[in-house]
Amino acid sequence: MVPSFRGSRRCHAAGPHCGQPKRGVVGKPTKHGVSQLALQSGKPQYFRLLIIGIAIAKLEPGSTIQGAHMAQDLVSLDELIGDVSAEDMRAELSSGGGGCSSKGCGSNARPEDMPEEVWAKIKDHPCYSEEAHHYFARMHVAVAPACNIQCNYCNRKYDCANESRPGVVSEKLTPDQALRKVITVANEVPQLSVLGIAGPGDACYDWKKTKATFEAVSKAIPDIKLCISTNGLALPDHVTELERMNVDHVTITINMVDPEIGAKIYPWIFYNHKRYTGIEAARILHERQMLGLEMLTARGILTKVNSVMIPGINDEHLKVVNAEVKKRGAFLHNIMPLISDPAHGTHFGLTGQRGPTHAELKSLQDACAGGANLMRHCRQCRADAVGLLGEDRGQEFTLDQLPEEISYDPAKREAYREVVARERGDHVAAKSAAVAELKSLAERPLLIAIATKGGGRINQHFGHAREFQVYEAGLTGVSFVGHRRIEDAYCQGGFGEDATLDSVIKSLAGVDAVLCSKIGDCPKKDLAAAGITVTDAYAFEYIEAAIATFYAAEVSAPPRALSA
Ligand code: SF4
Ligand code: SF4
Repeated sequence: MVPSFRGSRRCHAAGPHCGQPKRGVVGKPTKHGVSQLALQSGKPQYFRLLIIGIAIAKLEPGSTIQGAHMAQDLVSLDELIGDVSAEDMRAELSSGGGGCSSKGCGSNARPEDMPEEVWAKIKDHPCYSEEAHHYFARMHVAVAPACNIQCNYCNRKYDCANESRPGVVSEKLTPDQALRKVITVANEVPQLSVLGIAGPGDACYDWKKTKATFEAVSKAIPDIKLCISTNGLALPDHVTELERMNVDHVTITINMVDPEIGAKIYPWIFYNHKRYTGIEAARILHERQMLGLEMLTARGILTKVNSVMIPGINDEHLKVVNAEVKKRGAFLHNIMPLISDPAHGTHFGLTGQRGPTHAELKSLQDACAGGANLMRHCRQCRADAVGLLGEDRGQEFTLDQLPEEISYDPAKREAYREVVARERGDHVAAKSAAVAELKSLAERPLLIAIATKGGGRINQHFGHAREFQVYEAGLTGVSFVGHRRIEDAYCQGGFGEDATLDSVIKSLAGVDAVLCSKIGDCPKKDLAAAGITVTDAYAFEYIEAAIATFYAAEVSAPPRALSA
């Protein structure tokens, strides 16, 4: 029998406002993320997902997903895949267990207006497909420390495990070290689908190391997607080689198309062995960025444009940038907030340039709707990030922990893909039902924050959340609109910290409700006092289905059962 978290010993140290299972007594994760007791029980947690899949498929008309899921236990993909062998995953699948029995299952999430070949490129890429980010992980290897420009928001830092922002890494790697790291991660993290080089400098400027890394990794793991991030200045020199190496995802950071605005963001660039400053520097950078984008589009390489929103400098201008990059074929536009803190030592941080509020960012993103497609789920990752978006397992794979000799074993990654194909089909069906549900209602939109560990489900304790995924529910459906990062999770090893809760509440400003897998009474009351409803009544359900049911209840329409 699978031991249940419900009814297990609670953490008495935490007092009445925690309500979490006591770590170390029940469900303590192993290094590989599987509950000790689950392993002792002989029924790995992986099978819980399959059991839940069966429960969904067997729903009687008139019953609810909520009812079915509430009877089940904790679901978390990272726990599901830990120590379960590829053979076990396959055996369960071939015996017919799990997943959705309905027709149309299996990654049929392709938007109707998207060509098949484009969908094939993005469906497992957590950054290019919002839906894929529930299931697939990326890793960055920090092999490219040199940069050819200076941005006023950048200060590259090494040996820093605490800051989570682009440009920060714990250690730089040689291409050989990067290869060992990628193979180690691929063997242990079957969700891995993308290898990116995002600095900590510029991947195109530090080209020899970028190229050597990609060549070695694609030889060892041919199906891994290769991705680079660049400021664009050196990009046109390498587009042909990028195409030859099958790099079909490139990110260019484009903050302006007007050099006068650019001069306020870039103090200098280094180009053709010469340093340029001011408007001339920004003009050269702009021309090279546009050229690079056009060259990528001509070769069918998908390009994402990142823009940093800097209030008072380029915020309004980014609408023009959105239109210009769309015209040149950009696949996605990712408008990110400026991260500005004097402690980071950047020019903007030290001169008091503020970043945008959540509301300002959303308002700009909404104003750009209809232009280039927007990415809203970017986490502004470190240059050595590992794992699902929103989590960082980089510290588990530092150089001193890597084996000297290692060979790639594809079995687990391949089996995981088969599991996800099943799970994804169910998720897509639940999402469609949620949209249909909301279309029948007529009320104001709500912003709803979700605590999730992945898999597209509400499966995280409020106190453990390091971020909340934020969705807008309204007449047109449920859409992902961003995330709110929490610097310190509320629950610190069993204790709920009041000061931390204040900061969590601040991070949730503007949010109407939070759905999580568990929350104690005290934080619930404090959140209610701040005007935020919190509930764990939808624990372990698919996110969109739960939001639709919650929204229906909130606007006083009779909630109907959603079938998946
Ligand atoms: S291009 Fe990237 S690495 Fe270079 S200064 Fe700008 S943010 Fe930093
Ligand atoms: S920084 Fe954004 S685009 Fe890059 S890997 Fe992280 S989530 Fe994806």
